[in-house]
Amino acid sequence: DMSNAIMAQDEMGRPFIIVRDQGSKKRQHGLEAKKSHILAARSVASIIRTSLGPRGLDKILISPDGEITITNDGATILCQMELDNEIAKLLVQLSKSQDDEIGDGTTGVVVLASALLDQALELIEKGIHPIKIANGFDEAAKVAAQRLEEQADDVAGDETSFKEYLFRAAKTSLGSKIVSKDHDKFAQMAVDAVLRVLDEERKDVDFELIKLEGRVGGSLRDSKLIDGVILDKDFSHPQMPKEVVPVEGQNELKLAILTCPFEPPKPKTKHKLDISSVEEYQKLQNYEQDKFKEMIENIKRVGADVVICQWGFDDEANHLLLQNNLPAVRWVGGQELELIAIATHGRIVPRFQDLSTEKLGKCGRIYEMEFGTTKDRMLVIEQCSDAKTVTCFIRGSNKMIVDEAKRALHDALCVVRNLVKDSRVVYGGGAAEVAMSIAVSEEADRQRGIDQYAFRAFAQALDTIPMTLAENSGLDPIDTLTLLKSKQIKENSSLIGVDCLSKGSNDMKELFVVDPFIGKKQQIMLATQLCRMILKIDNVIISGKDEY
Ligand code: ADP
Repeated sequence: DMSNAIMAQDEMGRPFIIVRDQGSKKRQHGLEAKKSHILAARSVASIIRTSLGPRGLDKILISPDGEITITNDGATILCQMELDNEIAKLLVQLSKSQDDEIGDGTTGVVVLASALLDQALELIEKGIHPIKIANGFDEAAKVAAQRLEEQADDVAGDETSFKEYLFRAAKTSLGSKIVSKDHDKFAQMAVDAVLRVLDEERKDVDFELIKLEGRVGGSLRDSKLIDGVILDKDFSHPQMPKEVVPVEGQNELKLAILTCPFEPPKPKTKHKLDISSVEEYQKLQNYEQDKFKEMIENIKRVGADVVICQWGFDDEANHLLLQNNLPAVRWVGGQELELIAIATHGRIVPRFQDLSTEKLGKCGRIYEMEFGTTKDRMLVIEQCSDAKTVTCFIRGSNKMIVDEAKRALHDALCVVRNLVKDSRVVYGGGAAEVAMSIAVSEEADRQRGIDQYAFRAFAQALDTIPMTLAENSGLDPIDTLTLLKSKQIKENSSLIGVDCLSKGSNDMKELFVVDPFIGKKQQIMLATQLCRMILKIDNVIISGKDEY
């Protein structure tokens, strides 16, 4: 069964096959192990490379159960690849850590890490000890980070110009994504969403407060930012109003948010309920009806206009709610309930008897949003008293586009958040990498020991980023790199990068190709760490179950 087999190559380049689950393990030691790790990493990176940059290719991924994903996002591609190799899995983790901490730059970090590994392999072949290489890389990374810090531009400025900046940075991040046609709209959405939920004091953004919702139908252009919460629900009864606004004399709607079941408590009898006659059945029915009425009166008395329930309720209750002019929503998920509570400044009520006026949430309007001809609707709770919850509502003609647009918007949100946290930027299109590479090679000239090799190798790995961007844009990678380096040195500027979109300029500041400083720094650090880790592993057990 070939699906259980992995092709590999030994140190002489002869292919061999590792068959899993044969009950035997294969051990690799020392240099041989390191080389094979690096080769594994290279094969993963070669798939990711072509996605880097604004001209990067999208990938179509088909999962074993036939679901299709179209994406350009490194972390997503890697997550969906079924990898057998442990080292390749480390690259996946690498891209994920970049995603978790920064949210953007997930492709770049993998390309850089694998370039470092490639360089390490050459040094190993020259006979340099892997630990020496790892240490040299660490030192080189420090020099690179130092240079990165020097070239970072703080763009905070005054508020209007900062907002403009955020907008343009978000737009750059969207540049390589499917949504690029509508990137003005999406960039604005990212900026508005982040600024709306921004915690001014901590200068941070809690992403839990920004919800991404997608719905197939319409086009990307119909996407919008909703000032509040959207639920994939409608009112519990078709005759309930499609829109609820405060009654005359009130300026807000009040919401009862319930996690207790909306049903009468069971009659208190010690014994099993025994219904043996029509009368008894009738009595039980009356009892239930009375209890329902009591509950509804209770809700009305505390002043609620709308009921949001975690649980369902039966037709009878539903009908009574309708009769009493109490629009209700049932089966609302726990997370959504929490979001509603935060947004409306309400309290979640776990026991019916705890319901009180001050626990009600408040908002300006609740309405059912309909989608053209489809029967689908969603419920929008907006103008919430605490405006610090927003929903980015994404429309698109099919699921793949909606999903990719979500991912793209997530990246743009991250870029904006990162800049709000730290308003320093560096220039993209490989400009920052070229500047770092120049600094690291200069440092190499000053080194006397073995470190000089590691420094040069590190500089060359950095060069891979502009080279890959050039290659993906149809430019000659070596010519481009040479041009960028000589220009940067001649003009003593770190703004010169790859003109991926043929705009006729290499000035990334002018083209507004910027990346947040913290994201770039994180890439360098994570890639170097990963490389160190792999260089230190020298005993790996490949597949199989038993030792022989
Ligand atoms: P990642 O997942 O690593 O963010 P992307 O595919 O988004 O990968 O590519 C990001 C790289 O593309 C960065 O190095 C960035 O500077 C560069 N880039 C983005 N837009 C442009 C552009 N218009 N011109 C040149 N380089 C660009």
